Amino acid sequence: MDKLTNKSVQVNRNPMTLAEKAYLPALAKGLSITLGHVFKKKATVRYPEEKRPFSPVFRGLHILNRDEEGRERCTACGLCALACPAEAITMEAAERKAGEENLYREEKYAAKYEINMLRCIFCGYCEEACPKDAVYLSETVMPANYSRKSFIYKKDDLLIPTTKKTETK
Ligand code: SF4
Ligand code: SF4
Repeated sequence: MDKLTNKSVQVNRNPMTLAEKAYLPALAKGLSITLGHVFKKKATVRYPEEKRPFSPVFRGLHILNRDEEGRERCTACGLCALACPAEAITMEAAERKAGEENLYREEKYAAKYEINMLRCIFCGYCEEACPKDAVYLSETVMPANYSRKSFIYKKDDLLIPTTKKTETK
């Protein structure tokens, strides 16, 4: 019969030797591979105690930034939400009242600001779109969780604490 391809291999049907029947060559081969790996550098790290260095372009959890005086930078302009390809950002704007100048840098601020991290693809477009340097992606890895609700990060989760020095890009 004509062959369609030359890929077929003739199967060796010679009777097995005693050593082959006892799997000795296969055991020796397997053990030699294992021993070879014992003396090699470990491919794993003891996470979370030990962490691998991140790439300089790594993008992690978002941070809402404050200015040098500790005021919120975000003016709720919505550009980050517009730039977001995953439609992960929602916000509600509010007018700054008299006496709140020490809290909000601009006349408008985000009364509500949320990012749905289940939608986010960490592309960084929101950071690029922001004219106020108010949002940026930090080097913090987003923690795992058990509920979908916990992946909706609210303003309080994102806003840098007042005690912490203002971050710069
Ligand atoms: S990183 Fe990208 S996907 Fe995530 S919120 Fe920003 S723009 Fe949207
Ligand atoms: S984070 Fe920046 S782009 Fe987004 S609403 Fe605030 S000021 Fe505008």
